[in-house]
Amino acid sequence: MLSSPSFCPTLPAAQQPHLSELLRHQLQPPFFLRSLPTKSSAAPLSLSFSRRCRRAFRIQCIDAAQPYDSEFKLSLAHSSHGTSPDPLKIAIIGFGNFGQFLAKTLTRQGHEVLAHSRSDHSHAALQLGVRFFSDPSDLFEEHPEVILLCTSIISTGQFLKTLPLQRLKRSTLFVDVLSVKEFSKNLMLKVLPADFDIICSHPMFGPESAKHGWKGLFFVYEKVRIGNEDSRVLRCEKFLDIFAREECAMIEMSCAEHDEYAAGFQFMTHTVGRVLKMLNLESTPINTKGYEKLLDLVENTACDSFDLYYGLFMYNKNALAMLKKLNAAFEALKNEIFESLDDVARKRQYESDEKVDGLLDISWMFKENNNGSAWKETAPNSVRSQDTAPWPINGRARNSEQSSNSSKLKIAIIGFGNFGQFLARTFVRQGHQ
Ligand code: NAP
Repeated sequence: MLSSPSFCPTLPAAQQPHLSELLRHQLQPPFFLRSLPTKSSAAPLSLSFSRRCRRAFRIQCIDAAQPYDSEFKLSLAHSSHGTSPDPLKIAIIGFGNFGQFLAKTLTRQGHEVLAHSRSDHSHAALQLGVRFFSDPSDLFEEHPEVILLCTSIISTGQFLKTLPLQRLKRSTLFVDVLSVKEFSKNLMLKVLPADFDIICSHPMFGPESAKHGWKGLFFVYEKVRIGNEDSRVLRCEKFLDIFAREECAMIEMSCAEHDEYAAGFQFMTHTVGRVLKMLNLESTPINTKGYEKLLDLVENTACDSFDLYYGLFMYNKNALAMLKKLNAAFEALKNEIFESLDDVARKRQYESDEKVDGLLDISWMFKENNNGSAWKETAPNSVRSQDTAPWPINGRARNSEQSSNSSKLKIAIIGFGNFGQFLARTFVRQGHQ
């Protein structure tokens, strides 16, 4: 506790440093040695504070966690961006898009990261502070504690069998991040020696969706096989802590359960994202929220490799059924639209009301676009703008109806459905009649 009624008596009240500012400095180790903040990057206020209060400011007692006590160490260990107090030696196998993405966080947390991949990614590795090995034997002789498998779903089976596993230490921990889980679990149980520990995991985010950090994003995992020794249990916890300290939502779940939940929606999300990408959607100055979401979906899925998408299809037993369902739903929707068009066409044929006829002229749809493609381009202006076309307004009637209160309006909503009621709420709240 800093016991000083006024932190700096020589400063006017407005320039007194905020308590949190003082506490921030208090937590930096040099502070305790020199008793005043000196960090050059500190805010101007603390600089001037440092110079002007050097003599006036006196610490009488400190009750906050110190750098040498366990409370402080614990808080550092759990701070979201602090380096790990006990780093692991981790080898990433498959140093492509996702492998490099994970490496950034692992190195930031202070873990020693090594990598091997089919292709030469030594340049990218150098930039990330990762040691790259083109020969997996050389890498494995470094005896990493954790092997993090980041290969594509479709190549992992074959690739795993080619790795010189005999060069690793007996109790090495294998972790995979494949997006389908039952497949990788069965594969690792079959291929890896019984001495190896296994975690199956799925970080449910990627370079695009986690651009701004991993906070709140799901990390799903199953401890498939962890030996009883304390060191193995601790290593498993240290690995999981990598994601916990980034504030991921940690979900322990069986691989089967994961696939039941995720396989369907992952495949559907990627399918829709890829279809939308083919439409070359572009952002406009007046995007709706819904359209923004579509653009986000394209962005989140478009950079993923086709191998990843293909893997989601190949190793998800529901994928084909899902594809068929999507197709059927699209057909059903199309039919609904065409049936409505038929109704309009019938009306046009049997009704002689010229005005209605004018408004509902849909011949352009049938004439120009048998395949139903470029409707928007060929739609006559009368049809395109019918939502917004103003109804004829009688000026005199309008004036006489207007509320005497000039700031309030008397508004008649024609069409009091979903959107009409939605608007009404705001009109009424603003005091309009
Ligand atoms: P990916 O296309 O699924 O995998 C690319 C990686 O697989 C590269 O390291 C590549 O090595 C390697 N690879 C491909 N074919 C290979 C072969 N025949 N032999 C050996 N290695 C081969 O793209 P990714 O996005 O990087 O995904 C990697 C893994 O992370 C996948 O299992 C995916 O399911 C999982 N995952 C991805 C995301 C994501 O958002 N991208 C999210 C969660 C989980 P080279 O680069 O050396 O050729």
